[in-house]
Amino acid sequence: MEAKFQKLKTRMLEVNDISSAAGLLYWDQSTYMPPGGAAARGRQMATLSRLSHEKFVDPAVGKLLDELVPYEESLDYDSDEASMLRVTRRDYERATKIPSTFLAEVTSHTSESYQVWTEARPANDFERVRPYLEKTLDYSRQAAEFFPGYEHIADPFIESSDYGMKASEVSRVFAELREALVPLVSTITSQTPADDSCLHQYFPEADQLTFGLEVAKQFGYDMNRGRQDKTHHPFMTKFSLGDVRITTRTKENFLGDALFSTLHETGHALYEQGIRMDFEGTPLAGGTSAGVHESQSRLWENIVGRSKGFWTHYYPQLQKAFPEQLGSVPLDAFYRAINKVERSLIRTNADEVTYNLHVMLRFDFELQMLEGKLEIRDLPEAWRERFQADFGIVPPDDKDGVLQDVHWYYSLIGGGFQGYTLGNILGAQFFATALEAAPEIPSEIENGTFDTLHTWLKDNLYQYGSKYTAPEIVERATGSPLSIEPYMAYLRTKYGELYNLGN
Ligand code: ZN
Repeated sequence: MEAKFQKLKTRMLEVNDISSAAGLLYWDQSTYMPPGGAAARGRQMATLSRLSHEKFVDPAVGKLLDELVPYEESLDYDSDEASMLRVTRRDYERATKIPSTFLAEVTSHTSESYQVWTEARPANDFERVRPYLEKTLDYSRQAAEFFPGYEHIADPFIESSDYGMKASEVSRVFAELREALVPLVSTITSQTPADDSCLHQYFPEADQLTFGLEVAKQFGYDMNRGRQDKTHHPFMTKFSLGDVRITTRTKENFLGDALFSTLHETGHALYEQGIRMDFEGTPLAGGTSAGVHESQSRLWENIVGRSKGFWTHYYPQLQKAFPEQLGSVPLDAFYRAINKVERSLIRTNADEVTYNLHVMLRFDFELQMLEGKLEIRDLPEAWRERFQADFGIVPPDDKDGVLQDVHWYYSLIGGGFQGYTLGNILGAQFFATALEAAPEIPSEIENGTFDTLHTWLKDNLYQYGSKYTAPEIVERATGSPLSIEPYMAYLRTKYGELYNLGN
């Protein structure tokens, strides 16, 4: 049995090596590759991902998994071996359910759709991309049928990024959150908006990059196992537990972009760098779900990085880095500027309070499209109506409406958005539990030290990688299932004080 287990482990290591190599090609394409390399690079990445997929869905893997069932049953659920078998089996079953011919068809369709979207969005031309999106929805509904027995047609998609969650559960949590959020949003936005002009000045790129990376290191980002480079759309990527990279972009006329996206990607990287080194190359060596991953980027970016305590320590340093721009701006004004709440059109630029309403709109539309209750041709109008209802404004065009996010245009429809809001909720829940265990965390943050918080997160969350599912790790780390209470308490306290809401 042990020999068979080793054989499976070796196979998974090879699968991992090939996909890491593909990941490195993608990182290079997004950072340093000259434009002329694009065509060949696309082909090279496709070849590698096909090879790694083939190596994984090989019937030999299924045979090994079958033969190892008695071994798995003899092991303790919490053992690393049982966990590795459990996770491998789950991934294998998922990967083998979708026929490779169907997958190839979808991949070629979505890459075409993505290409059309890159032109349709700037041209504000929904009609151009509409036939592609209709076909994508067809494919999505077909793909769901490879997972018979689902409760909701969106469940197979939700499970692929947030395993353990279902449409019914996400809808329930979102409805509860929505009820609490909508009144908070209207109270805040009925007041005079914060003045954030101090962030919209000229800030030289090199100084922005230095400052952001300095904070990342102090958070605990290990530069022996990481690096930062410039890109168009920031992301975190990992080639091994010894090489977890972040990317960023700067806008020289806006301080907020590089700074907060660096702290965001650092949060993702801290999670990956915190995974137990002996999981290297196994299916356990990665974050457990989209929602839990996002909980860490949001925790470090927002709960820490946009807090008063954090800036009490760092603002004097930021002023020293940009004396002309910020020398005469008081801490309070800066703090208000980075936490400005407003009804805005673009999800990725939205503040902490309104952000989730953007996510809920997309999540609800995904369910309705998959259910066949919302036709693609009605989507732009549905978007405007819902936006008017939720935000009190109507997007002036589709470019900043239904065309704004890449998700539906480069992959199947479903499961693409819920992780962002689950992440906001979970980030607050993990943070609240850490504070109960270590009440000194806020005063440490005020002194620019993050060890206690980082250690708590490593001990209770990061080290496990994918060993436990999201619901399992939330229960283990916080002692209760997912709850919106800590998140709402966090928002009410922070924004109550910022906007004198007097609770
Ligand atoms: Zn993220």
